Amino acid sequence: MKQDSISGTIKAMFKPVSSQVSFPKLEEEITNYWKKNKIFEKSIEFRSKDKKWTFLDGPPFITGSPHYGSLLSSLPKDLFGRYFTMKGFRVRRVWGWDGHGLPIENKVENKLNIKRKKDIEEKIGIDKFILECKNYVSEVSLEWEWYIDRIGRWVDFKNAYKTWDQDYMESVMWVFKQMYDKGHIYKGLRVSLYCPHCSTPVSNFEVAMDAENYRDIEEHSTTYMYELKEEKGTYLLAWSTTPWTKIGTSALAVNSDIYYEKVEQEGKKYILASNTLEKVINGKYKKIGKPFKGKELLYKEFIPHFDFYKIEKDKKAFIVVGDLFVSSDEGTGIVTLAAYGEDDLRVMQKENIELVIYVDDEGMIDSKVPLFGDMYYLKANKEVDRVLKEKGLIYKEENYTHSVAHCWRCATRLFYNPQNAWYVNIQNLKPKLKKTNEKINWYPEHFKNGRFLKSLENAPDWNISRSRYWGSPVPVWECKCGERFVPSSIEELEKESGQKVTDLHRPEIDKITVKCDKCKSEVKRVPEVLDSWIESGSASFAERHFPFEENVKLNDFFPPDFIAEYTGQIRAWFYVLHVIGAALYDTPAFKNVLVEGVILGTDGRKMSKNYGNFPDPKEMLEIHGADALRLYLLGSSVMHGEDILISEEQYKNQVKNIMLTLWNSYNFFITYANIDKYDLLDKNLDTSGNILDKWILSKLNKLTLEVTNGLDKYDTVLAIASIQKFINDFSTWYIRRSRDRVGFLEENKKDKKMFFNTSYEVLTTLCKLLAPTTPFIAEDMFINLTKKESVHLENWPEVKKELINEKLEEEMVFVRELSESGHALRKEANLKVRIPLLKGEYSLNKKLEDDLQKLLKDELNIEDLEFKNKGKKGIFFDNSIKNQNLKAGEAREIIRNIQKERKNLKTRVDEYVNVYLPNWSKEYEDYIKSKALVRSLKKGDFRVEKNE
Ligand SMILES: [Zn+2]
Ligand SMILES: [Zn+2]
Repeated sequence: MKQDSISGTIKAMFKPVSSQVSFPKLEEEITNYWKKNKIFEKSIEFRSKDKKWTFLDGPPFITGSPHYGSLLSSLPKDLFGRYFTMKGFRVRRVWGWDGHGLPIENKVENKLNIKRKKDIEEKIGIDKFILECKNYVSEVSLEWEWYIDRIGRWVDFKNAYKTWDQDYMESVMWVFKQMYDKGHIYKGLRVSLYCPHCSTPVSNFEVAMDAENYRDIEEHSTTYMYELKEEKGTYLLAWSTTPWTKIGTSALAVNSDIYYEKVEQEGKKYILASNTLEKVINGKYKKIGKPFKGKELLYKEFIPHFDFYKIEKDKKAFIVVGDLFVSSDEGTGIVTLAAYGEDDLRVMQKENIELVIYVDDEGMIDSKVPLFGDMYYLKANKEVDRVLKEKGLIYKEENYTHSVAHCWRCATRLFYNPQNAWYVNIQNLKPKLKKTNEKINWYPEHFKNGRFLKSLENAPDWNISRSRYWGSPVPVWECKCGERFVPSSIEELEKESGQKVTDLHRPEIDKITVKCDKCKSEVKRVPEVLDSWIESGSASFAERHFPFEENVKLNDFFPPDFIAEYTGQIRAWFYVLHVIGAALYDTPAFKNVLVEGVILGTDGRKMSKNYGNFPDPKEMLEIHGADALRLYLLGSSVMHGEDILISEEQYKNQVKNIMLTLWNSYNFFITYANIDKYDLLDKNLDTSGNILDKWILSKLNKLTLEVTNGLDKYDTVLAIASIQKFINDFSTWYIRRSRDRVGFLEENKKDKKMFFNTSYEVLTTLCKLLAPTTPFIAEDMFINLTKKESVHLENWPEVKKELINEKLEEEMVFVRELSESGHALRKEANLKVRIPLLKGEYSLNKKLEDDLQKLLKDELNIEDLEFKNKGKKGIFFDNSIKNQNLKAGEAREIIRNIQKERKNLKTRVDEYVNVYLPNWSKEYEDYIKSKALVRSLKKGDFRVEKNE
C-alpha cells in the first residue's frame, strides 16, 4: 500500500500484472513463499482441535518412483484437505511409506546377486539380508518430495510414518492380537497362489491389482481314463489342464445332481456327463443303459495312475466323491482331485482323502517321486502325458487357452499350492463386511454394490503369512504341545520372555523365546512374517502408534473421514482396511471413499517407459505447471472412476481455456484499478444499479453454491466445470461489456467505482473457490488483491442467496442469444460491428427490461432498438447504407487507429496524446477526444504524439 500524499487516505496499489505470465514460475515463487512463511503449518494450527476432518493416506511403495498415477491420487487428497480446512476443520496430513515385503527383498536379492531363496539363509545369512533391506529403505527417494512439492500437495514429509518403524510394527502386532483373540485368525492348510521363485504365497488381490499379471497361455487339456476297479474295461473320463497334478490324484469328483451316461466305443466303456457326450466322444459310439445321476458313482473305486505314496490308516484314496463345484460346462463332468487346487483341497479334507504333497517351495518335484523326481513341476507336464499315453490311459488331448496368474513382483508363473499358513477367516466375517459396507459413502456410488461388494462376496480366506524375511513378524510363539503365546505389545513380550526386545524384525525377534505355560518347554516364534497388506490395512492405528500413545483417542481418528485411491485398490487397500475395521470394531474403516480411474498411455496401454507412450511428467510440470495439471486431471472423468488416456493437448488447453482467460480479466481489473487508485476500503456492493453487476454477482453466488455442493459430495468434475463456465462468462461477457465503464469521464465515476467493487468481489471470491483446486494462481491473485497472508487461511465463502436472481440470469441468456444472432446477421451482410446501425428490431416472448435492452443495443451497436412483437427469438435490421451511421463508424475507426498508435508508443492507459488527422466529423470530435484520451486534435497527416 502507498500513502497518497494529496488526499491523505490509504490507497490500494496492486502489484502490476503481466500478460506474459509464466505459470510454472509463479508456482515456484508461491511454493517458496509457503515454505518461508509456513503457511501449510499455519493452516492446520489455526483451526480448533475440537473440529477435525480426518484423512488417511494410502502409503506409496517406497521402491516406486512417482508417475501420473501416484500424482493423480495426491490431487484429491490435497484438494479436499484444503477445502475442509477452509470450511473450518483441522486437517492433519502426514505422509506415509510402505517399505516391507517382496519388492524390497527382490531389490536386495538383485544387489547381493541372490538367485534362490535358499541362499539367503545358507549363503548370506538373514542378519545381513535384513541389514541390506534396512539400508535400502533408509534411502527414501527425494524424487518424491520434488514431485509432491511441485504439484502443490501439502503434506507433512518430515514426520512420515514408515511401516518398518518399531512403533508402527508394534501397532500391527496389536492389531494381529485383536483379530486373533476375536477368533478371526486361524492356522491351517489352505491353497493359495504361490510363487516358486519368491518361494512364498501371494495374495489373490495383489495379482488382481494389475491386469497384466494375467496372461493367456495355450496348453493342453487332457481327458484321462480311470478304470473302475470292479468293472474291468469301464473307464471314468476325467478332464484336466494340469497334467503334473495327476501324479498325486488320489480321488475323482462328480456332481451328484448331474446326469451321467455309459457309452461303448471300440470295445471300451466310458462314463461321462450326458451333456458332454457330443463334445468329448469322437466317432461312433453306443449308449449303454439309461442316464443316471452322479450320486450313483459315489465311492466307487478306481485304479490309480500313480501310487508311489503310502495311504495313512485313517485316510481314503482312489474313490469317487461328490461336490457341487463340479460342473459339466467344461470337460467331462468328472474332475481329478489333488492337493493343488482350492476346491480340490476343500473336498479332499471334507471327504478325508489322502493328501499327497510332492512339490517343494521352489517348484521342484520331490526326488523320491518315481519318474518325475527333481523335475520342475511345469516340466513334468509333458512327461506325465507321455507316460500315460504309452499306458493307453489318455482318451484325447486338445489345445486349450486360459488366463494364468503371474507373480506381480518377479513375473514367474504362479500355481496353487497348499500351505500351512495363517489365515483371516473371511468366510465368517462376510456378513459383517457386507453390513459395514452399507454405511460407507462411495464416490462414484456404483462401486459400493458393484465391484466392491462382488469382491467381498467372492473373497477366499486371506493368507496373511509369508515364508519370507523382511516384514512384521507373525507374533505367535507356538509350543510343540499346541499351546500358543500371542503378545499384544513389546512390553508383554519382554515380560513373558524376560528378554529385551530391541528389534521386531527377523532375525532379532527369532532369538526371543518364552516358556510354555503348559509343558514348560522353551518355545520359539513361528517362522513366518506377515503379509505387508496387514500393515497397510492397519495404517489408521499404526500411523499413530495406537493404542500405546497416551493422548491418542480412537474416536479422534477412526474411522477416518476420507480416503482416496485408484480402482486397483478396491480389491486391495480398501478391502484390507475394511476387513480389519470390521474385525476389530464392527464398523466401516472409512466414512467416505473416492475412487479414481487409471491413466493409460497415449496408445491405451499401461504407461511404460518401454512403450514411450506418455509425456514425461517432470517436463510437463515444468512447461505447463501444476495448476493446469490439477485442472486437467481433477476435471476429467478419471475422477469418476473411469480410465482415461493421457493427453498433453488437454493438459495444455487448461492454461489457455481457464487460466489465461482468468488472468486476462484479472489483469484488466488490476491495470485500471491502479490507474484509478481504486480505494480498497471503500467497498459497497449494495448501491450498484448496473444490470451487469447484478448479473455477475448472481452468477457468482450460484457458482459458490454449485462448487460447494459439488465438493461436498466429492465431485471435483462438477466443481471445475462450473468454475470454468463462470470464468468464461466473467471474461467474455461481464468484462467485455464493462470495458467502456473504466473511462475517464467525470460522469462515469460512480459506475466505474461499482465496476471495481463488483470485480473485486468476484475476483477475491473466485480465488477462494479456486484455492483447493488451483492453489498457486489463487494464492498469487489473492495476496495481490487483499494484501492478506494467504487464501488458504481464509474461510470458505458463504452463499449470499439474496443476490441470486434467476429471472435476470434467464433474461441475460436471451440477450446473449439475441446478440449472437445479431452478430451472425452482420457477418452475413459483411457489416463491421464498428459501424452503428440507426435502427433495429427484436422479437421475444416479452419485452426486455430497459437495462437489458440497452445492453443488447450496445453489444450490437444499434442506436435505436425496438421490441417488435411476442414470438420466436429474432433480431431484424435493415443492412442497407441508409440504416448505417457512417460518420459514427468513421469516428470509431479513427479511435481504433489512435489506440493502435498509443500501443506502439507504449503510452500509459491514462496518458493524454496529441493527434493529427486529415479530416474528421466535427460532430464526433469530443467523442473521439474522450474515448482515445486526446489532448489536441489538429489537421495534418495521421500521426499520434505523446503529450509532453
Ligand atoms: Zn515371484
Ligand atoms: Zn508346551
